[in-house]
Amino acid sequence: MPTAMRSPSTSAPAATSASSASFVFVGERLWLDFVNSDDSTHSRGDSRTDALDSFERFVGWLSAARILDEERATAMMRRAQQQPTGSSAALHEARRLRNVLRALAERGDAPQERATQTAIAEINRILGRSAGTRRVEPRSDGGFVRNFVTTGDVFAGLMIPAIESAADGLVSGELQRVRKCADPRCARVFFDGSRNGKRRWCDMKTCGNRAKAARHRKKISG
Ligand SMILES: [Zn+2]
Repeated sequence: MPTAMRSPSTSAPAATSASSASFVFVGERLWLDFVNSDDSTHSRGDSRTDALDSFERFVGWLSAARILDEERATAMMRRAQQQPTGSSAALHEARRLRNVLRALAERGDAPQERATQTAIAEINRILGRSAGTRRVEPRSDGGFVRNFVTTGDVFAGLMIPAIESAADGLVSGELQRVRKCADPRCARVFFDGSRNGKRRWCDMKTCGNRAKAARHRKKISG
């Protein structure tokens, strides 16, 4: 069965199903959410959940990001059981690509930057080897989704949506608006889509709230 993936034309929506409710999407762009997948839940304090610590969790994250629908996620897990070497290679490559995209997100807004050049080479390598077709399919909620249906290696296509999202970021000149969370303990990155370009926190529920509480404490202690 071919495996289809969501087109990354929009940012990943918040997770809705119970199984994926723990993942957080605050990057405003799919590729930035993918970079943030090393700290993928609403964690407080030092506990982190890396969405790439197993292939199963990776598939869970891809589902939460709506890159895989339920049927395809199940099929992907079945394939992983049949081809453990292929799935662990795919997981390994996903981690490596995440490092490359993080470097791009953190300091890639100059074309001559090494991080940018490395990212472009990796993006082109992934896009170049992807074989498949694009389709529009109905979604269970009544809407429609544009899918990329891979032919050949099923695992090879898993990274296409995040990689295409990063390519879109480069093409549209959005890198100048990619920021790292202002909390030094937080490594999350996000696209600042605010009108004044002054978004500082990855998430008001965690980092933004902590900063607000710290300001408040400072005020009352004089
Ligand atoms: Zn943060």
